[in-house]
Amino acid sequence: MAKRSRFSLIFTIIIVSFIVFCGFMVLKDLDAPDISLSHGEDSINLLLPVTVTAFDESSIKSIEVVARFHDNEIPLVKKEFSGKGKSQSLIFTMADSGLKNNESFELEIIAVDNSFGKFGFGNKNKIVVPMRLDLNRPLISVKSNVPHVRRGGTGCVVYSLSKDVKQTGIKVGERFFPSFKQENGDYLCLFAFPYDLEVKEYNPQLAAVDKAGNQTVQSVNISAIPNQFKTDTINIRQSFLDAKAVEFESLVPEPLSDIERFLVVNRRIRRENAVRLLEIGQNTAPEMLWSGAFLRLPRAALRANFAERRTYLWEDKKIDEQTHLGFDLASIKQADVPAANSGNVVFAGYLGIYGNIIVIDHGMGLQSIYSHLSEIGVEIGRPIKKGDLIGKTGASGMAGGDHLHFGILIAGLEVNPQEWLDQHWIKDNVIDRIKEAGGKSPQFNISQENTPPIETRKTPSKAKPARKKR
Ligand SMILES: [Zn+2]
Repeated sequence: MAKRSRFSLIFTIIIVSFIVFCGFMVLKDLDAPDISLSHGEDSINLLLPVTVTAFDESSIKSIEVVARFHDNEIPLVKKEFSGKGKSQSLIFTMADSGLKNNESFELEIIAVDNSFGKFGFGNKNKIVVPMRLDLNRPLISVKSNVPHVRRGGTGCVVYSLSKDVKQTGIKVGERFFPSFKQENGDYLCLFAFPYDLEVKEYNPQLAAVDKAGNQTVQSVNISAIPNQFKTDTINIRQSFLDAKAVEFESLVPEPLSDIERFLVVNRRIRRENAVRLLEIGQNTAPEMLWSGAFLRLPRAALRANFAERRTYLWEDKKIDEQTHLGFDLASIKQADVPAANSGNVVFAGYLGIYGNIIVIDHGMGLQSIYSHLSEIGVEIGRPIKKGDLIGKTGASGMAGGDHLHFGILIAGLEVNPQEWLDQHWIKDNVIDRIKEAGGKSPQFNISQENTPPIETRKTPSKAKPARKKR
């Protein structure tokens, strides 16, 4: 009897342990894996690589992708994972699907985890995505006349597209100038002829990529106008380095001599600041916020021009060369700075060689900058009207004396501000382009123009250029 009861006790313990173990395995992970797709659109072409990622706490066992077309199941990719990774990915394309253009199908993605699962096979998740094979490239039809684009300046093109796109704009080498959709469905692009390219190197390309991944790239028919920029020599003096010592040390704290530190600011910090302006240039309204000619700092002398090539001398030896982008405008000290045109403040703060700087976005990639300020009177996000006082001139950043560095940027790249100060240039090169293309907007009406162009005053004496400019 004792023998039998001991046997049944052991048996009961084994059974209970087994049930507890099974329960534990089942309860341990009842959640099916999460599935995510890199392609969030409802159309796709044959070559676009799509990444499927599955995630589960108990690691991923397998991912499978099939296309379901009517009653056919077309296997696209399947992978079993041996590792214990909680997150696993695979990449597929539609290249071998055998599907034809414009055919609709369903993408089925199945991921299984490594848990014991409800029935010992792991938890399974399946998502079904309706999709269409689209092999039609977007067709680009330029509607505006051939733009005349001067080296360092801006061009404007209006065009239509045969279909909706994900991204479109003008490529100039590695640079990209996005286009913006207008009310009538056309696209408008403001683009630069970068100051650092010669006419023969300048070949802007109109590009459009649709949701399915089809891409069209074609040359823009333009008339490129050469332009020579001035050169200048700047003597760096110890008094300038002394005046800037604290500011430059905060930018470059490494133990360096004054002149070495100046060179790091003039090269590395200048490069970093240009990259930051490109980032700020992405933050732009999709519509035109400005109207008419841009205002220039009143009663101010032009001390340095756009794209001047500067040679820097230290103790009569050449130590550096840089390009000055923008206008240096000198007025009285701490002169009031008006906003050149309407828009929104997208940056207001300190930025390396620019010192205290305000960036106003005027929409569709067009922005203006006001730098070396002694006082910033606006904050980020504030809407601005043309002529609003936004700050006071100063000598912060790479500036030896009180002046305003004023610049115009297209997608974050500095272009020649002169064009934007000239209402006739704006009419001939922007407003008329839009009218030729059949677009209309009250802001495009030149009769609204109420800002007379301001004469650009020359440096008082060419023999004795101001040495304080930077
Ligand atoms: Zn300047």
